[in-house]
Amino acid sequence: MNKLIDNFGREISYLRVSITDRCNYRCIYCQPERQFEFIPHREILRYEEIVEIIQEAVKLGITKVRITGGEPLVRKGIVNFIEQLRKIDRLEDISLTTNGFFLPEYAEKLKDAGLNRVNISLDSLQEEKYKKITRGGSLEKALEGIDSAFKARLLPIKINTVVMKGINDDEVEDFVKLTLRRPLNIRFIEFMPSGEEVINEFENKFISVQEIKEKLIKKYLLNPIKISTANGPAKYFQIKGGQGTIGFITALSQHFCKTCNRIRLTSEGKLRPCLFSNKEIDIKKAIRGLVRDKKNEGFLRKKIIRDKIIEAVMLKPKGHKLNIKNQENISFQMSRIGG
Ligand code: SAM
Repeated sequence: MNKLIDNFGREISYLRVSITDRCNYRCIYCQPERQFEFIPHREILRYEEIVEIIQEAVKLGITKVRITGGEPLVRKGIVNFIEQLRKIDRLEDISLTTNGFFLPEYAEKLKDAGLNRVNISLDSLQEEKYKKITRGGSLEKALEGIDSAFKARLLPIKINTVVMKGINDDEVEDFVKLTLRRPLNIRFIEFMPSGEEVINEFENKFISVQEIKEKLIKKYLLNPIKISTANGPAKYFQIKGGQGTIGFITALSQHFCKTCNRIRLTSEGKLRPCLFSNKEIDIKKAIRGLVRDKKNEGFLRKKIIRDKIIEAVMLKPKGHKLNIKNQENISFQMSRIGG
């Protein structure tokens, strides 16, 4: 079995793929309030192109893929796309990140197509606040989405909660209590400075997840726990007698670059070695720019794709320098890159 090892000895086994920059919500931490221009459809990678890239990535050593966006469930043809991915030998894990709105409609179909599990974004347990954070979303629909993911056995279900000071940090304990009643893996995520407008708000709203954890420790006995799908940056804990777990993702206050095992494919076909570095490799341009040569095309395309993936892996920096005070010149639109 091949392995993708970067210049710093890290094994890269995880590819995160944004299949669209479009979303039915406009979360305050993700998108600007002003009207926002989406990438034209022709510039978005076609499903066949994404499948082809993932096939080659798996040959090189990728074993896990997460489909994200934008909102991946707004893109037509998603069920068939997951079916195509399921056919790829040695692709062990296919997961998807969603706001949950369309899950009641899609959960069973996605499970049947071969999706293993879902992460669901949920930033408030209060209807009005949920609406404010998502700019118009429905908490009821998100909760229905969670129920349908349970029913379809898209397990384990991870909940992504971006914690923002003065917005939802007062709800941390309510989320923690949820793990006593339901087998949900709640992950508290540090607010990251993505995109211009979001950066302006950043310093006011940032709260370190480390700080949140320290406060919780004073009140609850958090036992460290391993969960089978924890291949990412979260460290998980459980309250005695709890059904679910609590995870902390400290992208800014405590970097986890040393164990970073991922690269990203953006919706318009660029490989991004590190979320916090503007370096990207244009894989779409490389494959769409190929001169048609029937005899060699298949072979050449595959080789070019593999070369571009290796190039991206070799460009992975040792670490990023982003912290609460230093946001450098990093500008990333999460929906394009894939959070
Ligand atoms: N629409 C889907 C959803 O809502 O889950 C998938 C895309 S969304 C960009 C994926 C994740 O990105 C969210 O769960 C959220 O945690 C994360 N995200 C986006 N902007 C962020 C920011 N500024 N800081 C921290 N996390 C962010």
